[in-house]
Amino acid sequence: MTRFFSDKSRPVHMGHYPTERLARTAQAPDLTHVPTATPLSFDRPEAPHSILNAMREHQAMLDAIRDGLVNRAVAEAPTDPQDRADHLKAFGYFQDAALVGVCRLPGAALLDRPHANPDVERLAHDLKTRQTKTLAAGIDMIMSDLKESMEAPPSGIGGHTHALVFLYENPRVPDAVEPGTAWIKDAAAHRAGLLAAEAAVVLANYLRVLGHDARGHTVSSADVDLNKLAVAAGLATVEGGALHHPYIGTRFGLSAVTTTFEVAPDLPLVPLDQQPKSAFGLGWKLGTASAKNALNAEPFAKRRFVDGAHPFETLTRVDTPTTYIDEAHVARVPKRTDMFARAQFGDMGKKMQEGAKGGHYVRKAAPSSAQRRALGAFVLLQDGEAAPEQTQIDPQEAADLVKATSYWLGADAVGISRCPDWTWYSHDARGEPIDPPHDQAINMIIDQGYETMEGSSGDDWIAVAQSMRAYLRFSLIGGIIAKQIRNLGYKAKAHTVMDGEVLQPPLLLLSGLGEVSRIGEVILNPFLGPRLKSGTVTTDLPMAHDKPIDFGLQRFCEACNKCARECPSGAITAGPKLMFNGYEIWKSDSQKCATYRVTTPGGAMCGRCMKTCPWNLEGLFKDKPFRWAAMKVPALAPALAKLDDVMENGTLNPIKKWWWDLEVCDDGAYRPTQQPVNARSLQKDLDLRYEDQTLAVYPAPLAPHPYPYPFPMDREAGIAAYQAMITAEEYKSLLERDET
Ligand code: SF4
Ligand code: SF4
Repeated sequence: MTRFFSDKSRPVHMGHYPTERLARTAQAPDLTHVPTATPLSFDRPEAPHSILNAMREHQAMLDAIRDGLVNRAVAEAPTDPQDRADHLKAFGYFQDAALVGVCRLPGAALLDRPHANPDVERLAHDLKTRQTKTLAAGIDMIMSDLKESMEAPPSGIGGHTHALVFLYENPRVPDAVEPGTAWIKDAAAHRAGLLAAEAAVVLANYLRVLGHDARGHTVSSADVDLNKLAVAAGLATVEGGALHHPYIGTRFGLSAVTTTFEVAPDLPLVPLDQQPKSAFGLGWKLGTASAKNALNAEPFAKRRFVDGAHPFETLTRVDTPTTYIDEAHVARVPKRTDMFARAQFGDMGKKMQEGAKGGHYVRKAAPSSAQRRALGAFVLLQDGEAAPEQTQIDPQEAADLVKATSYWLGADAVGISRCPDWTWYSHDARGEPIDPPHDQAINMIIDQGYETMEGSSGDDWIAVAQSMRAYLRFSLIGGIIAKQIRNLGYKAKAHTVMDGEVLQPPLLLLSGLGEVSRIGEVILNPFLGPRLKSGTVTTDLPMAHDKPIDFGLQRFCEACNKCARECPSGAITAGPKLMFNGYEIWKSDSQKCATYRVTTPGGAMCGRCMKTCPWNLEGLFKDKPFRWAAMKVPALAPALAKLDDVMENGTLNPIKKWWWDLEVCDDGAYRPTQQPVNARSLQKDLDLRYEDQTLAVYPAPLAPHPYPYPFPMDREAGIAAYQAMITAEEYKSLLERDET
């Protein structure tokens, strides 16, 4: 993405394209000339290797949950229609829509016979027999809610007065002989439709969570004509018989939400030949006021899909990760050691249990509560039976296909590695031993998004939704890739935040997606910084592997401790890397971190370490010298870390704040929080010293039993365990001594 100008002063609701340059009309458009939207089928039996066959279940799942129960306790949210429109548009952009428009629901857009995805019924039938091993908070509730909503007759959209319309752009069409693109041929309309469906489902659920009736409409299930709504909401005009946007052309797909929630409508666009020349002038060509410009408008225009959007080919590859892993002695621990599982089972006391029960820390804020339903629903699609016949496929070709398809679907970084036994938990969430079933790992990174993070202090009321958005995107992409591999006759499972059986940080290291950072368990990527969430698909499909990378981060983090200084819970060490369970890492105090994230009264969860890190960059051309110097001139690391403070990077940018500070109350309604909201500035004067920190760790000998029953934490033992940790050099000498 070529960008020369920052868009720091552009409010999020204005979107990434400079649509304010376009001319609009106050006249209602004539919708009779708009071509009728025809429903898309995700079944392509004549092309069994087409990715559409793997996208089919996920599209059906989104269609199954496009409607649902409305919260009876209505939220105390702003009433001004323009505030509401700005807020909902910003939420749409946060979910990665290219454009969002609003209109009054025109009668001409109502379908006489709604489109119904026939796959929903098939999925509802299949789900009755599908099991999941997760004990993630609230999953049972999600499953029963899901089954109910699939079986309930649609409630219709009577009484709906307004529509939000989401436009998702497609990247360029793959070249005929481009490596890795055989699965994604002729599937662009479905791709955009699927991604748009995710936004419609989340936003419709959001409005229902706030207590207002709303329903999502997608390319396969709709009560409204999406094309007519796009024209009415000012997202497109009809040019040469097809829908067209002045900056995007015809490369897009649509979805919509209809609702009773009153929002200020947009004006329709004037036809293309009446648009002013200035709309396509230097401002658009260079992107002086917006992230999108003529140079970067078409994703992957100048890169191969198999290579991804970032220049990973420029990185130095090494044979082993830059931090030591004693593979022979890595201790496998039960899934039950996860701090959020421990909180849920009462290991960390009543307050933490209350905060974690039923996923309260996610329900606490309305946007994340809305995202969670789809996230829970996708758990049911993570795993399944492989097709009976195996397609033979060359390992390099398999790796290319997986990577190109994942990038095409929207993953930000993909790396493939072996999946050694030591990366698997010892026991699953129910306490059953895990016999590692797959030896290959496809690891993916999803960017948490720079723009919203700019407006957040990292631990306020949007923090949890930033994580959930990225987790949801991986659940969708990872679930589809796993299904595609199963369709080829190999085993494959997506490991998501709700149900995963592998430890992702070591897999990210092995597959060259980043290096260990001071933040601890967070692997830092050279192009996204620590601003990421990850997910893994494990499989027995043989694939060519990537190698670990070395971009100089160990030296940088040694010279910088900004994340440790800015961490509100004091969980990040200001000291050296030490050996923990066979890994060399800057071990953080996960108990402190989890406690803060679950119980902070001024927000919902935390990612402040990611926000304040100097590697959290906007993605501009001017970032390149920093990245080059940080990677190539280790001696500059202390100066670069200081410079980051001088430039006030990591402070709050109030222009980017789009969310409402609402908190769930005992009656289930979302109301303005009564607590002071976390809104931090940098603590530049704080001199954090390792010797003043009291940190605890729970290595394998202190791990809980694998079963879903309480196992109280012994913090004193944890503190002693931290003090007993040794450096990798000391550890290696001990190993040598034992061997002689
Ligand atoms: Fe927040 Fe935890 Fe990061 Fe500290 S380590 S800044 S508490 S997420
Ligand atoms: Fe490393 Fe500094 Fe980023 Fe922390 S803030 S992860 S020390 S570069």
